[in-house]
Amino acid sequence: MKSLLVVFDFDHTIVDDNTDLIVQKLLSSDKITDDVKKLHRTDGWTAYMQEIFRLLHKSGVTHSEIHDAVIHTPATPGMAELIQFLYSQNMEVIIVSDANSVFIKDWLCSSSLAHAVERVFTNPASYDKDGCLNIEMYHFQDFCELSTKNLCKGHILDLYIEERASIGVTFSQIAYVGDGRNDLCPCLRLSEKDLVFPREGFQLDKLIRDMQDQKDMRMKAKVHVWKTGSDIIRTLSDYWHQNKIDSEH
Ligand SMILES: [Mg+2]
Repeated sequence: MKSLLVVFDFDHTIVDDNTDLIVQKLLSSDKITDDVKKLHRTDGWTAYMQEIFRLLHKSGVTHSEIHDAVIHTPATPGMAELIQFLYSQNMEVIIVSDANSVFIKDWLCSSSLAHAVERVFTNPASYDKDGCLNIEMYHFQDFCELSTKNLCKGHILDLYIEERASIGVTFSQIAYVGDGRNDLCPCLRLSEKDLVFPREGFQLDKLIRDMQDQKDMRMKAKVHVWKTGSDIIRTLSDYWHQNKIDSEH
């Protein structure tokens, strides 16, 4: 049995920005017409980004320019240290993100963190033979109202826990680290013994505070807001220290 599974969002959680928006900035803004903007509302974010990637390619923006923009996205303070710390403690780390497989793999490799991440769940992407980046929806879902149609993070987490259990890997505790609206669904599926880490001042933090204000009791896990990865290391260390004391008495 592993003691802890830590689930990370990517944009604004591991990295301190949104990689999709960073790459979009490689395109001059006059190329993003109202018709392109409309795609976001009508067909969702993945369809919108596919069009951005097509326009980037058409404008002559190269694979290596996109790669450079992604790998220079700064890590959120303390996050690289947190992931290294979890790896050193033999904890399991996964990422569930609405970015895409190319950006996340490129960033993790250039930050020397790929070895510390067991699995990445995100929209699959790849460059075609002409050098245009193509992206697909991770899945199509219509069962979760909290999530977008291409990505229910809670469902993905449930399936992952089942999959690991089927080969004998179980977790005594799950921690979820995120910032966004689409991180709420997985957090609500966690139990009293689990931990939720919303980034302070971001959307997930606000949603959870609103729930607390409205005495909405759906959140079972304990909530700890964070500003840096060091805050999370401190909280986890406190829990482990406390558990050790409890188990000795
Ligand atoms: Mg995020």
